[in-house]
Amino acid sequence: MSEEVKEQTTAPVEEAQEETTVEKKKFKRPTSKKKVCAFCVDKTNVIDYKDGAKLRRYITENGKILPRRQTGTCSKHQRELANAIKRARVMAILPFKGE
Ligand SMILES: [Zn+2]
Repeated sequence: MSEEVKEQTTAPVEEAQEETTVEKKKFKRPTSKKKVCAFCVDKTNVIDYKDGAKLRRYITENGKILPRRQTGTCSKHQRELANAIKRARVMAILPFKGE
């Protein structure tokens, strides 16, 4: 009879408690309501590039086009919007670069 000696390894497993207190890159995005594309709401098919006041809401101070995830614009309209903004820039309605 060879009895197997069961070694009980009851070594306390040290759990590396990684405290997630990283505050340098803690973006707390407010979980607001899902944004709806403003152009879809208005049922706009063609975005008027002459409407500088409206387009201005979709660019940064530096004149850059805001990303979709910030404005909530759908891909279809974002593309239209980008074209409209680019056109508006050429027409000197919107700046190419922030003043
Ligand atoms: Zn849309």
